[in-house]
Amino acid sequence: MLNDSFMDFAKCRITDSSNIDFFSDHYTGSYNAVKFCQDCSVKEECLQYAIQNEIYHGIWGGVSQNSRKKMIRQYLKSNRSLNQTKHQRLCS
Ligand code: SF4
Repeated sequence: MLNDSFMDFAKCRITDSSNIDFFSDHYTGSYNAVKFCQDCSVKEECLQYAIQNEIYHGIWGGVSQNSRKKMIRQYLKSNRSLNQTKHQRLCS
Protein backbone atom coordinates (compact mmCIF):
# COMPACT_ATOMS: atom_id res chain seq x y z
CA MET A 1 0.00 0.00 0.00
CA LEU A 2 1.35 3.43 -0.91
CA ASN A 3 1.81 6.07 1.71
CA ASP A 4 0.21 9.48 1.30
CA SER A 5 3.36 11.64 1.29
CA PHE A 6 2.64 12.57 -2.34
CA MET A 7 -0.22 14.71 -1.05
CA ASP A 8 2.27 17.37 0.09
CA PHE A 9 2.86 18.07 -3.60
CA ALA A 10 -0.72 17.69 -4.77
CA LYS A 11 -1.93 20.46 -7.03
CA CYS A 12 -5.30 20.36 -5.26
CA ARG A 13 -3.51 21.10 -2.00
CA ILE A 14 -0.89 23.66 -3.04
CA THR A 15 -3.06 25.71 -5.39
CA ASP A 16 -6.57 27.07 -5.06
CA SER A 17 -8.97 24.25 -5.92
CA SER A 18 -11.98 25.65 -4.10
CA ASN A 19 -13.98 25.87 -7.33
CA ILE A 20 -13.29 22.23 -8.24
CA ASP A 21 -15.65 19.48 -7.08
CA PHE A 22 -13.72 16.20 -7.03
CA PHE A 23 -16.83 14.32 -5.90
CA SER A 24 -19.39 15.77 -8.27
CA ASP A 25 -22.32 13.69 -9.48
CA HIS A 26 -22.55 15.83 -12.59
CA TYR A 27 -20.63 15.45 -15.82
CA THR A 28 -19.43 19.07 -15.90
CA GLY A 29 -18.13 18.92 -12.34
CA SER A 30 -16.28 15.68 -12.99
CA TYR A 31 -14.93 16.97 -16.28
CA ASN A 32 -13.54 20.07 -14.57
CA ALA A 33 -11.87 17.93 -11.91
CA VAL A 34 -10.32 15.60 -14.48
CA LYS A 35 -9.05 18.62 -16.40
CA PHE A 36 -7.67 20.21 -13.23
CA CYS A 37 -5.66 17.07 -12.44
CA GLN A 38 -4.01 16.80 -15.84
CA ASP A 39 -0.90 18.82 -14.97
CA CYS A 40 -0.60 17.73 -11.35
CA SER A 41 2.96 16.53 -10.73
CA VAL A 42 1.79 13.64 -8.54
CA LYS A 43 -1.06 12.47 -10.75
CA GLU A 44 0.28 8.92 -11.09
CA GLU A 45 0.92 8.53 -7.35
CA CYS A 46 -2.58 9.84 -6.65
CA LEU A 47 -4.12 7.34 -9.05
CA GLN A 48 -2.11 4.43 -7.63
CA TYR A 49 -3.06 5.46 -4.10
CA ALA A 50 -6.76 5.39 -4.99
CA ILE A 51 -6.45 2.05 -6.76
CA GLN A 52 -4.44 0.34 -4.04
CA ASN A 53 -6.71 1.68 -1.31
CA GLU A 54 -9.82 0.72 -3.31
CA ILE A 55 -11.22 4.24 -3.34
CA TYR A 56 -14.17 4.19 -5.70
CA HIS A 57 -15.71 7.61 -5.21
CA GLY A 58 -14.47 10.85 -6.75
CA ILE A 59 -11.78 11.91 -9.17
CA TRP A 60 -8.30 10.72 -8.24
CA GLY A 61 -5.26 11.04 -10.49
CA GLY A 62 -7.45 12.66 -13.13
CA VAL A 63 -9.39 9.41 -13.57
CA SER A 64 -13.15 9.11 -13.28
CA GLN A 65 -14.94 6.70 -10.97
CA ASN A 66 -16.04 4.39 -13.76
CA SER A 67 -12.58 4.10 -15.28
CA ARG A 68 -11.03 3.56 -11.86
CA LYS A 69 -13.50 0.79 -10.99
CA LYS A 70 -12.06 -1.26 -13.85
CA MET A 71 -8.50 -0.47 -12.73
CA ILE A 72 -9.30 -1.52 -9.15
CA ARG A 73 -10.85 -4.78 -10.34
CA GLN A 74 -7.74 -5.46 -12.42
CA TYR A 75 -5.45 -4.57 -9.50
CA LEU A 76 -7.31 -6.90 -7.12
CA LYS A 77 -7.28 -9.70 -9.66
CA SER A 78 -3.52 -9.45 -10.30
CA ASN A 79 -2.83 -9.06 -6.58
CA ARG A 80 -4.80 -12.23 -5.89
CA SER A 81 -2.85 -14.25 -8.43
CA LEU A 82 0.43 -12.79 -7.14
CA ASN A 83 -0.50 -13.85 -3.61
CA GLN A 84 -1.45 -17.31 -4.85
CA THR A 85 1.95 -17.63 -6.53
CA LYS A 86 3.74 -16.53 -3.35
CA HIS A 87 1.68 -18.98 -1.33
CA GLN A 88 2.47 -21.84 -3.71
CA ARG A 89 6.18 -21.05 -3.49
CA LEU A 90 6.05 -20.99 0.29
CA CYS A 91 4.18 -24.30 0.50
CA SER A 92 6.12 -26.27 -2.06
S1 SF4 B 1 -4.16 14.23 -9.41
FE1 SF4 B 1 -5.83 15.63 -8.91
S2 SF4 B 1 -6.79 14.80 -7.05
FE2 SF4 B 1 -4.78 13.83 -7.30
S3 SF4 B 1 -3.37 15.04 -6.08
FE3 SF4 B 1 -3.31 15.84 -8.16
S4 SF4 B 1 -4.79 17.49 -8.24
FE4 SF4 B 1 -5.23 16.30 -6.40
